[in-house]
Amino acid sequence: MKSSDTFSANSSANNSTNHNGDAVAGSTAPAPSNFIRHIIEQDLQTGKHNGRVQTRFPPEPNGYLHIGHAKSICLNFGVAKSNNGFCNLRFDDTNPEKESQEFINAIKADIEWLGFHWSGEIRYASAYFDALYEFALQLIRAGKAYVCSLSPDQAREYRGTLTTHGTPSPYRNRTVEENIDLFTRMAAGEFAEGVHSLRAKIDMASPNINMRDPVIYRIRHVHHHQTGDKWPIYPMYDYAHCISDAMECITHSLCTLEFEDHRPLYDWILQNLDIATLHRASDSKEGVESYVLPRQIEFARLNINYTVMSKRKLKELVMQGYVKGWDDPRMPTLSGLRRRGFTSASIRNFCDRVGISRSESVVDLGMLEHSIRDDLDKSAPRAMCVLRPLKVTLTNYPLDSLDGPEVLELSCHPKEESMGKRKLPFARELFIDASDFEEIPPPQYKRLSPGTEVRLRGAYVIRCDQVIKDAEGKPVELLCSYDAATLGVNPQGRKVQGVIHWVPAQHAIDVEVRIYDRLFSKENPDDKTVGDYKECLNPESLVTLTGCKAEPSLKLAAPEASFQFEREGYFCVDRYDSTPEKMVFNRTVTLRDSWAKISS
Ligand code: ATP
Ligand code: MG
Repeated sequence: MKSSDTFSANSSANNSTNHNGDAVAGSTAPAPSNFIRHIIEQDLQTGKHNGRVQTRFPPEPNGYLHIGHAKSICLNFGVAKSNNGFCNLRFDDTNPEKESQEFINAIKADIEWLGFHWSGEIRYASAYFDALYEFALQLIRAGKAYVCSLSPDQAREYRGTLTTHGTPSPYRNRTVEENIDLFTRMAAGEFAEGVHSLRAKIDMASPNINMRDPVIYRIRHVHHHQTGDKWPIYPMYDYAHCISDAMECITHSLCTLEFEDHRPLYDWILQNLDIATLHRASDSKEGVESYVLPRQIEFARLNINYTVMSKRKLKELVMQGYVKGWDDPRMPTLSGLRRRGFTSASIRNFCDRVGISRSESVVDLGMLEHSIRDDLDKSAPRAMCVLRPLKVTLTNYPLDSLDGPEVLELSCHPKEESMGKRKLPFARELFIDASDFEEIPPPQYKRLSPGTEVRLRGAYVIRCDQVIKDAEGKPVELLCSYDAATLGVNPQGRKVQGVIHWVPAQHAIDVEVRIYDRLFSKENPDDKTVGDYKECLNPESLVTLTGCKAEPSLKLAAPEASFQFEREGYFCVDRYDSTPEKMVFNRTVTLRDSWAKISS
C-alpha cells in the first residue's frame, strides 16, 4: 500500500482523542469498521457466545512493545470496548530463557500509556501450567499424544518438507501407560533436555506441517520468572495459547497472519480436549451446553518502511549498542516513540488510519509522522529556540535601561487564543540562527544578508549593516540596526521579505537539542539483497547540538512537554536526561515531510 493512498482515503479518521488515553472511551467518533468488526457484529446478532465479546492481547515478555503491537492493542482493546466487552492482558510466557520481569513491567506501562485498561488481573500462560499439564495427560489417555524420543535433528528429518510428507516416529505407538510414565517422569525432571518430547498425534501426511505430530511439551531445565524452578518441562506456544484462550473464555482470538497455518492446530487441540473439563477450567459462567470455543481470526501485521519491527532485530540493536536502549527515540518501540515526543493519541489515530485487513503491506513512515504533526500542530505551544546561534547586535537600540528590558508578548499559538501569551524580553544583543544569514545570498533568498532587511518574529524589522568575522573568515557577529516603527507592523510601502526567529542573548537559556532522524536510510532494511540490515543504519539518525539558545519561557517546561520551535519543527523535553539546570530537547518531527521528495 502506498502511504499516500491510505492516507487520503482515511484522512477524516477519528481525531477526537486526547492525550491521556481514556480518550478511546471519551471519543464520540465510531471506530473505523473492518472485517473483524463485521464478524463480531454477526456473532452478536446470532447470539453466539451469548452476546459476549472477550478478546486478549498476548505479548511474549521477550522485548519491549513496538508500533506493530500498538495495532494489535488498538484492535483487541478497541473491539472489546465498542461492544461492551472485555480485553485481557496475558503474558504468553512459555519461553523463560528469553523473558524477563523488566519486559513485563515495560509492556504494562506501555499499554497503560497508550490509554487502555485490561480486564481484571494480569494473566500469565504460566499460571495455567498445572492445567496445561492435566490437559496433556488427558490427550495421552485418549491416545492423542505420545512421548517421542527422537533427537531434535531426527525429528526434523522425520517431519518432511513442504513438498514431501512426514514419516511417523518409531515412538508413535507407545502405549498409554508407557506415555504416562515417561511424561510424568519428564515433569519430575528425570531426563536431560532433548531426550524426549510430548507430541500431539495428528497426521504425519498432512500437507500442513503444523499438523505433523507437533511437539506440545519439551524439556527445559531453566528457571522461570513466574514459576521459579517448579517445571523442567514447558508447553509450546501453539498448545498453550489456544487452551489459555479457552480458559479465559476468549470469544475472538485475534492474531497476525503468520498464525493462519496454525489455526487447524489451534482448533484440533481444543476440539480434542473434553469440553466439560475445558469449560470447568474456564472463566465461563455459561452452562456447558452453550459454551462455545474461541475462534482465531488473523489480520495483516503492520510493517513500516525505514525501520525494522522484529523483536530479535530490535534486541540486537540494543544489545550491540547501535542505539542507547529500548526507549531510544529512534526506535519504533512505544517507549522510544513516547520519548521522541509522540503522543498516545497520535499513535491511536495512526492505527485507525492504517486500518485492519488481510493484505500484507508496508506503510510509509511519513504517515506516522503526519499523525504526530497533526496532533502537535493543534496542541503544542510555540516557542523560539536558536539551534546554531549567531550573535546580532542592534547598534541603534538603546542600552539596557534601569527599568529593565523591553518585554514583548507573543501568542503561544497562532489559532488557539486560549493557550495565552508568553513574555519575551527584547534586547540590544540577540541570537539568530547561523543558517538564516548568507553573506552572498543565492537568488530569491528571503533571510538576512548584508544590506537587506528581515523581520524578527513578533518584534522589529532589522537591517544588516556589517559582518564581523573570525580569523577563518566565518561570520561571528552581525551589526544591525532596528527600525523602532516596525513593532508588529510594516510601515506602508515597505516590503520585508522574510521572518526569522531569534532569542535575546542575555535572557536565553542554554539547551541541548537532539536532532533525530530515521534510523535507517534504506526503505526496506529487511531486504536481504542489500546485505545485513545493520549496514543501512542512518549515520545521521542522531545529531546532538549543544549550546543552543532557547527563549526563557521554556525554563518552566515539564518533562515530556512538547513545543513547536518556530521554523524548526516539534520538540519535547527529554523525560530522562533533561534537568532544570541543563535542559535537553528531542526533535520529534520536522514541520514538513522532508523525506517525501527524496524517497519518491
Ligand atoms: P516476534 O518479533 O518475536 O515474532 P511478536 O512481534 O509476534 O514477536 P508477540 O509478543 O508474540 O510478539 O506479539 C503479541 C501480539 O502482537 C501478537 O498477537 C502479535 O500477533 C501482535 N503483533 C506483533 N507484531 C505485530 C505487528 N507488526 N503488527 C500487528 N500485530 C503485531
Ligand atoms: Mg509472537
